[in-house]
Amino acid sequence: MHEWSIAEGIVTALLESFKDQKIIEVEVRVGELRDLNIDVLKEALSILSKDSGLEETRFNIVVSKAFFKCLNCGEEWGMNKALEILNEMLEIENYIVEEGELEPPVHFIPSLIIGYQKCPKCKKVDIEIISGKELEISKVYLGDES
Ligand SMILES: [Zn+2]
Repeated sequence: MHEWSIAEGIVTALLESFKDQKIIEVEVRVGELRDLNIDVLKEALSILSKDSGLEETRFNIVVSKAFFKCLNCGEEWGMNKALEILNEMLEIENYIVEEGELEPPVHFIPSLIIGYQKCPKCKKVDIEIISGKELEISKVYLGDES
């Protein structure tokens, strides 16, 4: 469960950077290509912050959308198209389980998506990930010392 070590890293960074300050709210930005379970991350943050003096801090997790760009023709596309391309490249129909429900192994899908992209327009595989891999403390709201 690497959500826990990430949560620990966030809490440690906050405590080190804002010693003796009251942290009211923290925004954490997580790209949707990150292989992270947001609920587990939230739970880990809430539990770890209780033991560290951040029990009143509100954690706001923002998931940022993935965007890909073709380095050859400049075409840009998002997650829905990326999943279509992945399906096409892997012929994911083969993995359909009973009842016609597609149940991909969600935990490694992000790396699959990154590994199996090609430009929807010119079909080149030379692509860049513009966003979707973020993992950062994006905003911190501090309160008055009291
Ligand atoms: Zn292209």
